[in-house]
Amino acid sequence: MSVAKSLPPVAVSGAGVSGLGAAWELTCAGHAVEVFEKSRGLSGRAASRSKEGCRYDHGANYFTIDSDELKELIFESLPTEDLIKVQGDIAVFDASGAISPGDPSQGTGEKWNYRGGINTIGKLMAESIGLVVHHQSRITGVRCDEENGQWFLQSMGEHEGRESLLEDGPFSHVVVSIPGPQSLTLIESSEFDEDLQEQLVSELEPIEYASQFSFLLHFVEDISFPEHTYALLNVDRGHDISWISYENGKEGRIPDGEHLLVVQMSPEWSFSHFDDDQETLQAGLFSALSNVMPNLPKTDWIDSQRWKFSLPQSEALEPRLASLGKEQGLWLTGDVFVGKGRVGGALERGLQLGRELAAWLED
Ligand SMILES: Cc1cc2nc3c(=O)[nH]c(=O)nc-3n(C[C@H](O)[C@H](O)[C@H](O)COP(=O)(O)OP(=O)(O)OC[C@H]3O[C@@H](n4cnc5c(N)ncnc54)[C@H](O)[C@@H]3O)c2cc1C
Repeated sequence: MSVAKSLPPVAVSGAGVSGLGAAWELTCAGHAVEVFEKSRGLSGRAASRSKEGCRYDHGANYFTIDSDELKELIFESLPTEDLIKVQGDIAVFDASGAISPGDPSQGTGEKWNYRGGINTIGKLMAESIGLVVHHQSRITGVRCDEENGQWFLQSMGEHEGRESLLEDGPFSHVVVSIPGPQSLTLIESSEFDEDLQEQLVSELEPIEYASQFSFLLHFVEDISFPEHTYALLNVDRGHDISWISYENGKEGRIPDGEHLLVVQMSPEWSFSHFDDDQETLQAGLFSALSNVMPNLPKTDWIDSQRWKFSLPQSEALEPRLASLGKEQGLWLTGDVFVGKGRVGGALERGLQLGRELAAWLED
């Protein structure tokens, strides 16, 4: 166990898979960690919901397990009873809506999920190590005390009946694990070494994330989804829909006789319709769906999610930037270091950062 136990804990801002990965490694190395998460849940964009007996993923659809460290975490360290393989292939469609079999060399890897929803991954990680998570804590800035190098997290909250700036701390180090544009806002409104702040701002400023709408369509009549197919992917990027998947391909999610489609709109469509009302959005959704799946029956219910920051659109940040602030105690992780939206990639980055910070604390 670590000598660093006498230090204040490490604070992690963001309980997505990357922040949880960092917290996992730090906890396993014997360091005290506290996670601050703005929502009520865990796993961030690896998000799941329930409605009328259905369980579905309205963010990431599945994850792949591409490295030994992910294999060890998922198959050996975490319980596997709820782990499932997503059944079916990924076919493709073009701008005209015409469906064809996918490229056999693409998307054929194993697609993983959990019966209880993709967000189970974060729940299992947090439960397995007894992680302290402060929910509904939206961090607006961080402050480093110049005299002793200790860190404080700032958030808005109610104090004596009035909305006030609250501070949590002290912490020995802070890990910021939120999407790139949100990290930029947080770092801009923080107080710490000005040179470091300037460098991080200039690296984060050009980072772009796509916005994306997910629609969840529930049917009680057969929808004739193509046989042996789990999902349809728009490959030429010419369609208003980028992805349609059949949630029934995930065991234990949708009651027999019912059907659930996940439809993700293209980043361009999502950007231009970002502030539309539900009626206009749904009109656009069904107009776009009509040439890919022309014979759909009437929906029983519809759910939706508007993701402001869904998938990174910029090159991955250089790995060295994750620990640029190590002397001062400020670390970064998240899919901004992956350069594309990937649960496995973001989790791996978090695990790597957690190990690097643990080694730094032990030095
Ligand atoms: C619609 C959609 C579909 C996707 N499909 C796939 C897929 O099929 N397969 C795949 O591998 N990946 C997919 N992805 C991408 C994948 O979900 C992400 O790359 C991955 O989950 C990122 O994890 P993260 O921990 O870096 O960030 P996040 O999951 O975004 O975690 C950040 C956490 O920080 C919290 N937070 C934000 N700001 C603050 C703050 N100020 N204070 C405190 N907490 C804060 C958030 O609530 C969140 O919980 C998809 C994403 C979306 C949105």
